Amino acid sequence: MAIIHCPTCGDPVKVTGDRWECSWCLDFGPVSSLLPSERAKLESDHYYVYVDFSELEEGVEKIQTGMRLLYENPDTVRRMTWDLFAFSVSQALLKTTDNRLAHTRYLELFYKEYPYFEMWKAVKFAFKKNKAYLAESFALNGETVGTFWKDIMPKLVPHSTNASWAETEMKGMLEGISQIEAIFSKEEESEIFERLWNALRKYWDDYAAEMMEKG
Ligand SMILES: [Zn+2]
Repeated sequence: MAIIHCPTCGDPVKVTGDRWECSWCLDFGPVSSLLPSERAKLESDHYYVYVDFSELEEGVEKIQTGMRLLYENPDTVRRMTWDLFAFSVSQALLKTTDNRLAHTRYLELFYKEYPYFEMWKAVKFAFKKNKAYLAESFALNGETVGTFWKDIMPKLVPHSTNASWAETEMKGMLEGISQIEAIFSKEEESEIFERLWNALRKYWDDYAAEMMEKG
C-alpha cells in the first residue's frame, strides 16, 4: 500500500477528502500542495494508497444508529443508511468547486473498502448530470422535504410530546450527515446541521399540529 509523504518532513500524512495533515511536523494543507509524486499516487489507479476514512465512517455510524430506531429489519437499516450516505456525499460534491478530483478519488477509495461499489457508480452518474443521488427521497431544506422524511413522520410524532428520544436520535442522524458533507463542501459542519435541523423541525412540528387537529 502506497504512503503519501509530507512535503515538509517526509513522514506519512493522513488524507481526508482533499486535505492532508502530518502528525509528525503538524503541517497540513490541501492535496494540491503535496509534491507532484505524492499527488500522482492519489490520482492514479495504479496505486492503492492509504487514506483515512475515520470521519466518514463515524458519520455513517451516526446515520445507522438513527436508522435502527426507525426500521427493524437489518437489511432495511443497511440499505437506508447507505442510500442516505450516498445522497449526502453526492449533494456535498455538487457544492464543491475546487479539488473535485481529489474528492472523487477519495470517495472511490472509500467505496472500494465496502461492498457498495455499484452505488458509487450511481453517485458519479448523478454527479455528471448535476443532480444529487436520490434527492427525491432525502432532500431536506426550506423548499423540499423528501419522501424519506415524510414517511418517517408517523414514527416520530407519537413521541414528540412526552419524550425527547426521537429528537435526540434524529439530531444524531443529522449530525452524521453534516459530518460527511463537511468533508467535501466548504460549509462548516455546524452550519449544515442547523440548516437540516431547522428544516426537519419545521416539517415535524407542522405534521404534529395537523395530526392534533385531526384528533
Ligand atoms: Zn510533516
